[in-house]
This record gives sequence, C-alpha cells and structure tokens, in this order.
Amino acid sequence: MAEVLVYVDHVDGSVRKPTLELLTLARRIGEPVAVALGAGAGDTAAVLGEHGAVRVLTNDAAEFADYLVVPKVDALQAAVAAVSPSAVLVPSSAEGKEIAARLALRIGSGIITDAVDLEAGDEGPVATQSVFAAGFTTKSRVTTGVPVVTVKPNSAPVEPAAAAGAVEALAVSFSDAATGTKVTSRAARESTGRPELTEAAIVVSGGRGVNGAENFAIIEALADSLGAAVGASRAAVDAGWYPHSNQVGQTGKSVSPQLYIASGISGAIQHRAGMQTSKTIVAINKDPEAPIFDLVDYGVVGDLFDVVPALTDEVKTRKG
Ligand SMILES: Cc1cc2nc3c(=O)[nH]c(=O)nc-3n(C[C@H](O)[C@H](O)[C@H](O)COP(=O)(O)OP(=O)(O)OC[C@H]3O[C@@H](n4cnc5c(N)ncnc54)[C@H](O)[C@@H]3O)c2cc1C
Repeated sequence: MAEVLVYVDHVDGSVRKPTLELLTLARRIGEPVAVALGAGAGDTAAVLGEHGAVRVLTNDAAEFADYLVVPKVDALQAAVAAVSPSAVLVPSSAEGKEIAARLALRIGSGIITDAVDLEAGDEGPVATQSVFAAGFTTKSRVTTGVPVVTVKPNSAPVEPAAAAGAVEALAVSFSDAATGTKVTSRAARESTGRPELTEAAIVVSGGRGVNGAENFAIIEALADSLGAAVGASRAAVDAGWYPHSNQVGQTGKSVSPQLYIASGISGAIQHRAGMQTSKTIVAINKDPEAPIFDLVDYGVVGDLFDVVPALTDEVKTRKG
C-alpha cells in the first residue's frame, strides 16, 4: 500500500490533536508515515504509533526552532524524496499552510488547502473544501505531482489504530534559504486555560448582543462548563470587549468545531464564513428574524442574559 506523509505538529514531543486527525484521514488513503521535527521529535513516536503511523521519521536539529519555516520545508522535501509518498498531509494552521505551499512549489506539485474531508479516489485522494464563505462545497484532487493537502482541525475523528511507529532518523541538509529568517525572541502567550480556538471541539461565541466587555464573563462561564474555547464577532472585538485573537470570521479565525454556540450574533456573511462548517450550530438571539437562525441546528429565541446562565447551570448540574 502506498505511504502517505503526515507532518507532525507537536510541542516538545506532545502531539497536537489535528495531527492525530490527519492520521485518521491518512489511513483512508494509504499507510501513514509521520514526519516529526525539532526538540522532542522522538517522543512523539509512541502516540503516533498508537494512531496508525507505521514509521516516524525524526530529526531534532536546532534549526527547526531557531529559524522560521524553511528548515521544515527542507526536511519535508527530504522525506518526500526518501519515501516517494502518494500524498503529503499537513495541518491547516497558518504555519502549516506556509510549509505546505513552499513544499508544493519545491516539488512541482499541486496543493489543496483547508480541506474538511479526504477520501481515496481512483486517480488519487479527493479532498472536500468549503468555499466562497462556506456557500459551496467542492470536491477536488491534485492532478500534478505528489498531492499536498492541508486539512482543517476537527475534520476527522481521532481514532486509535495500533501500528509499529518505528522511529527512523531523517537525514536533512539545510538549504541556504533555511537560515535567512532567524527567530530572535519568544514570549509565551498568557494561558487562559481554555483550548486553542481553531482546534477546540466546542466554541462559545459572543457578539454585539453581549453588550460590554464585563458581560463576556457569562460567555466564558458557559465555555468553561463545556471545556470550550471563546470566540467573538467582529462587532464585539471592534468595541474592545474581547481580543482580536478570538475573532471568528472572514477577517478573523476560521473554526470548525463539533459544536458552535453563537450568543447575541446576528449571522452576517463575514461571520458565517468563519464558522459555517461547524458540525452542530446553536444560536441564542432575541430577534426571531436574525439571519443566524437560517443556518442553525438549534435556535433559542430569547435574551442571552437569561438563556446563557441557565444553560451554564444546566450543564454543570448534568455533569454533577
Ligand atoms: C470586510 C469585512 C470583514 C468582516 N469580517 C468579519 C469577521 O471576520 N467576523 C465577524 O464576526 N464580522 C466581520 N465583519 C462584520 C460583519 O459584517 C458584522 O458587522 C458583524 O459580524 C456583526 O457582529 P454581531 O453579529 O455581533 O453584531 P450585530 O449584527 O449587531 O448583531 C447583534 C445581534 O445580537 C442580538 N442581541 C442583542 N441583544 C441581545 C440579547 N440581550 N440577547 C440575545 N440576542 C441579542 C441582536 O438581535 C442581533 O441579532 C466584517 C465586515 C466586513 C465589511
């Protein structure tokens, strides 16, 4: 069976969930071979093997942390040369898409970004994308070279599937361009204790209806009761009620969680563009004519200041 390269997103050996989701998709189209780079790369092998990686190619050179994406592109290119895979899968983060685009250019391949599903096809893997502000769903495949596909978080379940996970050293010779952009300092973002917005399985968002920064506490309380991330509409962000890093939409972040709860958000097209591929959508809005109700699975017509705290209490009660 053809091998499929999976680029591993990890922090010091701790593998992030979107990579495990990629392994689920990779198994549909071939045998997953993971590529783990940087400090702790070897520590990823056990969990990658548990989720279907037949081999784990590792290289822990300092260049991966000291410089921006080019060393990683060099390494993936070396892995493509060593494995001759039938496809390369990369998580659809900002960095992942830059790596994937540079790799595709280097190896003369076509690329598909932001896929939300992937299946085997007679002439190569077929990717599903949600395009034009999620107004259309398309299926496409790469016709030139080794397909490079970036996949959005939450596009597939994490499924255990034991495989060898055999660690092999990946030889990489870095190109001149690799050391062109040096990382000069790093500052860790203050942790909220909540999941990363683009990766969260549940997102609770607030909009203009929340009516003030201080009122976002009730959105956060619901999010915390569900173990969710907090999102915000641009109106809420522009008003200074919540950080821009939490904005969902066309000019914010794109999320695709299992559950999206929108409170006091009207459902403008630019907001929908960032959340319409969510699996289950719930809206709380006091206006029964709000456009958001056109796309929801469950809608609650009511005042969010009544509904959201009641929902939080109910979740807490049921969790015991
Ligand atoms: C180029 C461009 C890019 C944009 N990018 C984005 C983007 O990335 N993300 C984004 O979100 N927007 C974006 N916008 C803005 C977008 O067009 C909307 O203006 C914005 O999404 C509206 O935010 P909102 O739904 O919170 O506010 P509103 O449209 O004002 O809606 C507020 C809603 O809250 C309801 N409400 C009020 N009080 C309560 C209450 N007590 N209980 C329950 N419901 C209540 C109201 O009925 C209303 O439906 C963009 C616009 C442009 C032009």
